[in-house]
Amino acid sequence: MQIPGHIDPVAVPRPGLVDGVTPRDDGRVDLLGLPKKAIAALFEDAGLDAKQAKLRAKQVFHWLYHRGVTEFGAMTDIAKTMRPWLAERFVVGRPEVVEAQVSSDGTRKWLLRTADGQDFEMVFIPDADRGTLCVSSQVGCTLNCRFCHTGTMRLVRNLTPGEIVGQVMLARDALGEWPKGRMDMPDDETAAEYTADGRLLTNIVMMGMGEPLYNFDNVRDALKLVMDGEGLALSKRRITLSTSGVVPMMERCGEEIGVNLAVSLHAVTKEIRDEIVPLNRKYGLEELLAACAAYPGASNARRITFEYVMLKDKNDSDDHARELVRLIRKYNLPAKVNLIPFNPWPGAPYECSTPERVRRFSEIVFESGISAPVRTPRGRDIDAACGQLKTAAEKKSRAELDRLAAEKQAALEA
Ligand code: SAH
Ligand code: SF4
Repeated sequence: MQIPGHIDPVAVPRPGLVDGVTPRDDGRVDLLGLPKKAIAALFEDAGLDAKQAKLRAKQVFHWLYHRGVTEFGAMTDIAKTMRPWLAERFVVGRPEVVEAQVSSDGTRKWLLRTADGQDFEMVFIPDADRGTLCVSSQVGCTLNCRFCHTGTMRLVRNLTPGEIVGQVMLARDALGEWPKGRMDMPDDETAAEYTADGRLLTNIVMMGMGEPLYNFDNVRDALKLVMDGEGLALSKRRITLSTSGVVPMMERCGEEIGVNLAVSLHAVTKEIRDEIVPLNRKYGLEELLAACAAYPGASNARRITFEYVMLKDKNDSDDHARELVRLIRKYNLPAKVNLIPFNPWPGAPYECSTPERVRRFSEIVFESGISAPVRTPRGRDIDAACGQLKTAAEKKSRAELDRLAAEKQAALEA
């Protein structure tokens, strides 16, 4: 029990709190990332009766995800006396923005920080007909693909559902895209009306830092919030999850999340894929393609995207292109191929294929009737392009190390 006038330093367990929910240091619980049911359970736990808790959870959920509100004081359809009661116990968080950069081509990159001081990145890519947010699923990545800068990060931790959905919320904040209309609960506003008003952020790709299928539960829970019709209401058809080939999780991805699938194939022989995507040693090419063929929801209308990074003299020959076509046919895959020019980073062990080589590779695949566009690199000047994400914090610490080494050398020479 707390002694009046004293600050009790002992962390008292809070019995009855919803599973997996840890209050912040000030004792308040961050509601961002929690499903409506968990919010209701927390409200009930804090003293509301079940019916009240459910109603308030519905209202708060709507303010959080439909309106982007972070202050309980602004939730005008909740009784005035109730708002401070909520603010004392709960909070609506956002990842902290450490740095925001804009590329000469309009691409934006944000360096974000979790409450426990871990840095990760998110990228927004505007196009004429769409705006794509590239969302991270982990801080760093354990998979060490040889051409990927993220794979060289030492620190790795899974992002929580709140940190994942928080990226989408933050992008909406930054782009000023929360509906401004009526501030009551618009029961009659349809999802179509909500999304058909010329928003910039129209698509989400899980292609930032990390392997999303190595953080399956959190990615699923976050994307469920993104797709919830009473919240952000983004259609699953506008969301793509990219995996380097975590075969055992692919079926669940289709069944439990139902988003479009992109697979980082990058090579068509065991030898080359083993080298550049080391996960191939665990889940081989044929196993991966069989899992693609069985992906729930894939069809000619919803094709699987095969990503193929173009590495000079490594995976870019005519024979490789023909083998790619053969494999896609063999497994009868509803597929499109996305050719990604390799984005260089300091110390990378590969070079990008020549533009002529990329074009020829694309033609061979295309002539067989499979779409094979070449992806235009975006945001290269701010290190925002595919595979360039590695947090500035890490780069700085490297620079710091170099500076220290130089100082040491100078001292020795003096
Ligand atoms: N971990 C997931 C998703 C993030 S990577 C995955 O690997 O699929 C997003 C895409 O960028 C993947 O296809 C990845 O292989 C590709 N990529 C990584 N490094 C790259 C680089 N240096 N140049 C071009 N594409 C790269
Ligand atoms: Fe990880 Fe994807 Fe980079 Fe491979 S390409 S190291 S799986 S982020």
